[in-house]
Amino acid sequence: MSKAWPGWWLCWLLLFSGASAAIELPRPALVPGGVAIVALPANGERPPRAWYRDRRVMVVRQGEGWYAVIGIPLSAKPGRHTVTVKGARQDHVSFTVKEKKYREQHLTIKNRRMVNPNAKDLARIRREKQEIGAAFAHWRDTPQVDAGFILPVDGPLSSPFGLRRFFNGEPRKPHSGLDIAASKGTPVRAPAPGVVVATGNYFFNGNTVFIDHGQGLITMYCHMNHIDVAKDDVVVEGQVIGRVGMTGRVTGAHLHWSVSLNDTRVDPELFLTVSR
Ligand SMILES: [Zn+2]
Repeated sequence: MSKAWPGWWLCWLLLFSGASAAIELPRPALVPGGVAIVALPANGERPPRAWYRDRRVMVVRQGEGWYAVIGIPLSAKPGRHTVTVKGARQDHVSFTVKEKKYREQHLTIKNRRMVNPNAKDLARIRREKQEIGAAFAHWRDTPQVDAGFILPVDGPLSSPFGLRRFFNGEPRKPHSGLDIAASKGTPVRAPAPGVVVATGNYFFNGNTVFIDHGQGLITMYCHMNHIDVAKDDVVVEGQVIGRVGMTGRVTGAHLHWSVSLNDTRVDPELFLTVSR
């Protein structure tokens, strides 16, 4: 072995430890459905705490500073938005949201009951809405969060986040996630480490898994053929959590993937570390 080897090894170690200390954040996009990364007026060791629209927001350290990582709702109005801060030199900071026009999508659903559910279905949908809401509102304190994601399914992106949708000509809520086309049985993988916060079989979403990545960053996987994890399971990046299917309201096999920050659905593409 050459004399240079131990030196090279040390150098590699230093580089590696340096790289792992810097956490990955989503790409900022100051638009409805995007993510704001806002410097907080604090530089102590203790993290300040921050709220946006009365919801606790993620706070991470980058270099010497603290940053709030904030999900902006699709319904947000363009203009100035305010973050409330505790444990910093100022108790408010603001950021500006710009307008974004999302495309329209018209879909034909053959099963009319999926477009206009009956009374019994509506009671089920109301129950499930509470369960789904509780999963998205979950908060788990973690000192740092890995918010750089791999794509959970190997397949083409078939329907982007934010599309303004019409089912059989009737306007419905905008698309709150990203669809990835893949055949039934394709593995669905955790895009980053986390804890399974809920699983269920829902009227619209079919077989569904929620992963809590810490500090209000929650991801949801829908329409699965099969679920391979259970509530409270700890998952690592790349771990198979289920299989692609077509359960719930679907027109074909695909994964619907939602990403949520401070209980706000945002564009999952902003979190992908490898752009496609
Ligand atoms: Zn979808």
